[in-house]
Amino acid sequence: MKRWILPLVLLLLLIQIQQPAAAQSNGRITIQPGDSWASLSLRFQVPEATLHELNSHMNPQRLPAIGTELALPENTTEQSGQMRRPGGNLLATAVAQQTSPWLLAIRNNRASPYRANLYRPILVPDATSIPRDLPAGFSRLELSQVVGTPGQAVGFRAEMDAVGDVTAVLGSNEMDVFANEQFLVGLTGTGAFFGTQQPVLQIQVGDAPPWRQPWQFRDPADWEYQQLTLTGTAAQIDQQSIDEERARLFAIWEQNSGPPQWNAPFQLPINSFLEISSTFGARRSYNGGPYRTYHEGVDFAAYGGTPVLAPAGGTVVVAEVLYVRGGAVIIDHGLGIYSGFYHMSSITVAPGDVVTPGQIVGEVGTTGLSTGNHLHWDLLVDGIWVDAQAWLDQGMDCWILAGLNRPCG
Ligand SMILES: [Zn+2]
Repeated sequence: MKRWILPLVLLLLLIQIQQPAAAQSNGRITIQPGDSWASLSLRFQVPEATLHELNSHMNPQRLPAIGTELALPENTTEQSGQMRRPGGNLLATAVAQQTSPWLLAIRNNRASPYRANLYRPILVPDATSIPRDLPAGFSRLELSQVVGTPGQAVGFRAEMDAVGDVTAVLGSNEMDVFANEQFLVGLTGTGAFFGTQQPVLQIQVGDAPPWRQPWQFRDPADWEYQQLTLTGTAAQIDQQSIDEERARLFAIWEQNSGPPQWNAPFQLPINSFLEISSTFGARRSYNGGPYRTYHEGVDFAAYGGTPVLAPAGGTVVVAEVLYVRGGAVIIDHGLGIYSGFYHMSSITVAPGDVVTPGQIVGEVGTTGLSTGNHLHWDLLVDGIWVDAQAWLDQGMDCWILAGLNRPCG
């Protein structure tokens, strides 16, 4: 070994170590709402073409899907600031932002601030913002979960400079949208058969062009499968009565029911039960047929007479004996969120009653189409059944209230 090699290696190592710690990505990021090819290019100072090359499995004509992983070149440096879609030139933006046009030109790789470019977005540097391509007038946009789970309530919360007329659609499903001054929440549910897919989240603000980004949903695929055999009277169920009951209840559930009536986390509607005898989304086959339906709620096997409690504040909208659901109570919690309690042997509230969390609404029984004492609890968001057990765990109750600048608990 030549005598100068070792000192040289040590010197090189030293230089390596003493490099300033620049903000570096570890080479991969998870796509968040508003991460467009243009905003990622500005943020990581990488040409869009390089991002497409590194992520050739992603369609360059489409925004990267929220919740998917994006590969970045090694050792990229991250820029902070707000992304602006220029209506004109950089000079006008500099004046509006009270910043130097030359600084903007340098940050945006432009030779001169006086050369107009109508198409390329620009970065207005600041210390904290992450450049993102958000819907018109939005200063913040956040999702309830970055990778969605089928069968759960999902939503977004946002902040606007001034709340305008906002509509939102997930896939083919129009979301319930609620505003409180500059705060905004959009809600919907996805059924248990939703599967793995990338529905498009579309947000439209007034007359502005709609903002669209796909959103990754991943099916946990660990659904329960149940084979049920119906014999005798149970097999002779009256399909017309089932359909009529369903239609009548959907007319209630699909109502977008006004401000939130809860102000603390939801709680279990039953304190004492033997076991959860059937989970939400359990696939059901009747008499050997295909798994065409699923269980729309959660079943708690419990002794007859066990008190059933309101899980959160709300107004009673149904309190009567139904053909399928037996002794039934449905509570409207506001924002298009309804919970229902079925097969009860007695009902202790009436339509129009305002209930408080933990208030007794009835007793466990086995009325309606039921084969034993149990409480069936269902929860609907935007007219779609969602997993009530997941709702208790996912913390969306308080997440929504915080999004509307209201306290929770
Ligand atoms: Zn059930």
